[in-house]
Amino acid sequence: MKKLLEKVIENNRNYTEFGEVASYIPELTKANKNALGICVTTLKGEEICAGDCNTKFTIQSISKVITLIIALMDNGKEKTFSKVGVEPTTDAFNSIINLEAKNPNKPLNPMINAGAIATVSLIDGENSDEIFNKILNFTRKLAGNEDIHINENVYRCEKETGDRNRSLAYFMKSTGIITKDVENVLDVYFRQCSMEVTCKDISRIGAVLANNGVIPWTKERVIPEDIARVVKTIMVTCGMYDASGEFAVNIGIPAKSGVGGGIMASVPSNMGIGVFGPALDSKGNSIAGIKVLADLSKELNLSIF
Ligand code: GLU
Repeated sequence: MKKLLEKVIENNRNYTEFGEVASYIPELTKANKNALGICVTTLKGEEICAGDCNTKFTIQSISKVITLIIALMDNGKEKTFSKVGVEPTTDAFNSIINLEAKNPNKPLNPMINAGAIATVSLIDGENSDEIFNKILNFTRKLAGNEDIHINENVYRCEKETGDRNRSLAYFMKSTGIITKDVENVLDVYFRQCSMEVTCKDISRIGAVLANNGVIPWTKERVIPEDIARVVKTIMVTCGMYDASGEFAVNIGIPAKSGVGGGIMASVPSNMGIGVFGPALDSKGNSIAGIKVLADLSKELNLSIF
């Protein structure tokens, strides 16, 4: 497996040249465009890494999976999905148009920004510190890593420049989707996006989902089985922005990407995979990371379809 991972990284590193690192905040432009790394965590607890697998990056939209799990555990499916839908979209992740145009006017799914902000507003807690700490601690538990923290510079920039997310959130307050203080909800959202992880962290989170909510290395159940199933389904239909259909056809693995360059994949009953490559394609997905997952899916026959 180690040799295979090294081969797919080296075979695909040249694709990093065809993408661009995220530039909507200055902090993300500092990433090394040619970085590419992978880690696989099997359900037997083996961990195999190759390439730039120790580089830290911000989790960004991959955190939407974690907040969806917590919101579902706090509220159940019925309440959660009365506020946010489960339908894929062909619009960009930060699109505004459907919020007003669709009837009922709830965000399409929890993986786009509007849906993720609505989802985080459903998490129980007294104040934003308590809610964010709940997200951080759950992330640490899923990743088996107490050393996950937020990148303060990224957090500050996200907060300073997040006007589009702010407009989505205030619109949702006006329609009753969000009922809490908007700035507090956004503060949690900006902090969750700014958590710093490595490929290994996200491959472990993918492994917990692959194991139906039981941590493979402690055997502790941390997510109810039905919620793990629902979340993996939404990862298939909505996890790769508006390229989710193509990803399902070519790769066929539940996955979620983030503009920090990470892709978290979960192969049911088999393994979690974490990929990092900050050069992104036009949809915001790691351009070489997708190629790596395509090769791996083919070599190991990982498609669930
Ligand atoms: N912090 C980013 C935003 O809300 C996350 C985007 C992403 O990873 O898709 O715009």
